[in-house]
Amino acid sequence: MILKNKVAIVTGAKQGIGYGIALALAKEGCKVVVSDLNQKDCQVAAEKIKKEGVKILAVACDVSKKSEVDNLIAKTVKEFSQLDILVNNAGIFPFVPFLDMKEADWDRVIDTNLKSIFLCSQAALKKMKAGGKIVNISSIASFVGFEGLTHYCASKGGINALVRALALELAPKKINVNAVAPGAINTPGAAGVMTKKEKDQTIAIIPAKRFGLPEDIANTVVFLASNKADYITGQTIIVDGGWTLR
Ligand code: NAP
Repeated sequence: MILKNKVAIVTGAKQGIGYGIALALAKEGCKVVVSDLNQKDCQVAAEKIKKEGVKILAVACDVSKKSEVDNLIAKTVKEFSQLDILVNNAGIFPFVPFLDMKEADWDRVIDTNLKSIFLCSQAALKKMKAGGKIVNISSIASFVGFEGLTHYCASKGGINALVRALALELAPKKINVNAVAPGAINTPGAAGVMTKKEKDQTIAIIPAKRFGLPEDIANTVVFLASNKADYITGQTIIVDGGWTLR
């Protein structure tokens, strides 16, 4: 796999799946930009990942805000002079029953999970050259319904559709766009807020009989970000321990 010295941005990377992806890319020799909402959190994560012996840059960015996204891309290119890989990972999943859902709840989820993909991808593509890769973190919630997550399911379904259309537009430029759709992954934002009973109920419906780990998602992202996946574009790869098989 040729990833050494590639420059990668990972959003929402202070913890969970994003941190796992940033660490895995660093282990492959990428220079990684660790981005999340708060600069201090980015720096703490960056210090840990630096132990892999690669250059790491910490840049705070709210991915739903164009000015902050533009700043993220500008700082990346200023520091590393190039951008090869964008991993759109930042996302939120607040449970709200549909009839209680406020317009602000809907907008916040769509802006954070879907509009961010438009903002980050468009800004990144102005700097990306042939061989560039965009990997988006979708969810099995784009394929199956979850009560209380209508906005989230819509945002993730939107990602899969965007991925297909953008992949078509970018194929002539030799830039690949794909998504990974995780099942239940053990992260602070997901399993981290469940009771023991909720965790046991979740494990019971997963054929693999365990939560996924951030590494399970990161391994797939590393592959899609590499030259080994040059002929894969517009796809959403499910990584869910078999959850969606029945
Ligand atoms: P997590 O533990 O909550 O981590 C997500 C990170 O993104 C947090 O650090 C969060 O900051 C940050 N973030 C939130 N809003 C942001 C914004 N506007 N701009 C930049 N960063 C922002 O979540 P995770 O479980 O690792 O999930 C990562 C991605 O995987 C999400 O897109 C999620 O939808 C997807 N996913 C997760 C699972 C799962 O089971 N874990 C399953 C399917 C899909 P705060 O902590 O301050 O909010």
